[in-house]
Amino acid sequence: MLRYEINGIVQGVGFRPFIYNLALRLKLQGYVLNSTDGVEIELEGSSEALHNFEIFLYQELPPAAKIETMVKFHLPNIGYKNFEIRQSLSKEGSTFISPDLAVCDDCIREMFDEKDERFNYPFINCTNCGPRYSIIEKTPYDRPVTSMKSFEMCPYCSDEYKDPANRRFHAQPIACETCGPHLIFLDQNLNEIIGDPIENCLKFLRDGRIVGIKGIGGFHLACDATNDEAVKELRKRKQRPDKPFAVMCSEDNFKHIVELDSSNLELLRSTAAPIVLLPKKKHNYLSDQVAPLNPNLGVFLPYAPPHHQIFQQPNLYLIMTSGNLNDEPIAKDENELPGICDYFLTHNRPILNRNDDSVIRPSKNKNIFLRRSRGFVPSPLKLPFKTLPTLGTGAELKISFALSKENSIWLSPYIGNNNSKETEDFFAETLIKFQDWFKIKPELIACDLQPDFMTTRFAEKLDLPLVKVQHHHAHIAAVMAENLLDEQVIGISYDGTGYGTDGAIWGGEIITCDYQNFERKFHLKYMPLPGGDSAIKHPVRIAYSYLKIANENPDFLKGISETEKRIISKQIEHNFNVFQTSSMGRLFDCISSMLGLYPNITFEAQSAMALEFLCDNESLENVPSYPYKIEDGIIDFIPLIKAVAEDIKQGIENIIIAGKFHKTVIDFTVKAVEKVQKETGLSKVVLSGGVMQNNVLLEELTKELEKKHFTVFTPSQLPSNDGAISAGQVMIANRVYELNN
Ligand code: ZN
Ligand code: ZN
Ligand code: FE
Repeated sequence: MLRYEINGIVQGVGFRPFIYNLALRLKLQGYVLNSTDGVEIELEGSSEALHNFEIFLYQELPPAAKIETMVKFHLPNIGYKNFEIRQSLSKEGSTFISPDLAVCDDCIREMFDEKDERFNYPFINCTNCGPRYSIIEKTPYDRPVTSMKSFEMCPYCSDEYKDPANRRFHAQPIACETCGPHLIFLDQNLNEIIGDPIENCLKFLRDGRIVGIKGIGGFHLACDATNDEAVKELRKRKQRPDKPFAVMCSEDNFKHIVELDSSNLELLRSTAAPIVLLPKKKHNYLSDQVAPLNPNLGVFLPYAPPHHQIFQQPNLYLIMTSGNLNDEPIAKDENELPGICDYFLTHNRPILNRNDDSVIRPSKNKNIFLRRSRGFVPSPLKLPFKTLPTLGTGAELKISFALSKENSIWLSPYIGNNNSKETEDFFAETLIKFQDWFKIKPELIACDLQPDFMTTRFAEKLDLPLVKVQHHHAHIAAVMAENLLDEQVIGISYDGTGYGTDGAIWGGEIITCDYQNFERKFHLKYMPLPGGDSAIKHPVRIAYSYLKIANENPDFLKGISETEKRIISKQIEHNFNVFQTSSMGRLFDCISSMLGLYPNITFEAQSAMALEFLCDNESLENVPSYPYKIEDGIIDFIPLIKAVAEDIKQGIENIIIAGKFHKTVIDFTVKAVEKVQKETGLSKVVLSGGVMQNNVLLEELTKELEKKHFTVFTPSQLPSNDGAISAGQVMIANRVYELNN
């Protein structure tokens, strides 16, 4: 007899019926069973059949399944008579919830097959696909505890559900026209519009109207991406003047709007069906308003069956942006979007758990998460050491909490991007669910050092041991954790904002750390940030302030009023309402504004991104670096600012200056890291922080460090932005707490 213990993504993805059918085919006896943290299989049969089993197991694995470890035991035969799927062992604290899965090819084929029982049925799904996380109320995952509970299975569905050989065996959301949910089309007053919902939806989209489309984890706001007026109207209603929108289109149409290679296509087609950021085609059909002045475009494939019905229409490009007002949690009901949509394409299967689309940018060697949510949440990540049941609350932007237990950590979906009441409510309600589902009762809490964050106040209210974690230490720890590192490293956190232990705003930090301690080795020179956070929305004020400190004449700056200049000068002079910052994000803002790019911004990192977009990896090749000073733990970039001002005076092109600037940042970073290595002997370098979302910086810095024989670790399973802060907090809190108790 052979016994297998398999770990990985093997539950809720059609793995057991697959094994069942394979065993029947090979005439093997035994059983398959979902166990604590994977799947258990016992097999008896001819040695040839047993041999073939392992080959076919890998060859024919269900698309959403992933085997991480497989342990095999040779045991004496028991004498199994048949092969069966056994009742799951439900041990305390062992629950797995699959992420939502994009509709599979088999189901799409059936949906468009006139002879099929589920022809044109927009809630078709099977064990390989369909909603999971977003429809779960309680665990263990079973139809009566999902939002399918009010739909009683018809005999046809029920037969399939009970048949181990059927690909809908135990598919909890199984449904058909007779017994399942239905689409409905509503006007803005939520009155039904009679007719085919999909046809109505298409008609009004073609007319340039904004339709709220209920999807898997929430509503999308949809409009025709080729219609300027429609896109402008959407921007107005969503209060989002410039931030890029994502576009959904059918696979055939990608080639008209973005540059695509086979690995990107694989990512787009994956069961998570994320938004993928790709280089925009110069000439495309889309409105310039979709992603203004941005060389990239976020695209994704239809992933819910109604999307596929909509995209049967040829040459259709739709903006599909999260249904919310700027930065609020995504809407799950049509009445949460008052005044934004003209119409709604909605349905009667409730969304129990909101989940925004995930966003990924392919990079040279790996994919970079900009947002990890639908399709990935709530899969846990493995940790390098055992933790107490711990909650990390995160920071203020891109909020996502983390809960850990033993060697696993669960990150919440993307919650929101601000301190609002709605964000806090969504945070609290999701936390309660996660604790219940994954049987985690936190014994330890971790939060940011910044006292004003909603997440910090939330943590303080819980009557449990609390560890406050420095923001950039958390950034580095998160990347260490996903790379399973547990040792001293050199960490580079290039970021926008993070509360420092001295009360200053940090963000250009080179540290040495393990999970317990960190030591600040180098940081960008402190500069005055006039008016604090308000300056972040007006980067030109930062440029003005930095130029003053550099003793350069700031008169060439565009987009700043005389009043602003007067106020800032006074603030600096009297050191009033001025914050000291070592932020790398602010240095990017400063240089960007000096080049006249974005004196004022409407979304985070807009000006820094504009600076990145001026160059590519090649533009760094043959340019010199600007001067800087690096001593006593401080990277002094005053000489850099002076030299940039001089270049501007000389009429040097912006693209050259942007290239030289990036080159300089890489240069002084490598120098500083070399100095740290000389002192400490450390050679593993971890990169993180929001600024590391800059692809040119990330790739070139990695390359230069590797040239100097450093081993470089970058984020790949979690974002480098504040979406991963909670994970880092959990790790650090555990080691700090352990030390003190
Ligand atoms: Zn399917
Ligand atoms: Zn049915
Ligand atoms: Fe950060």
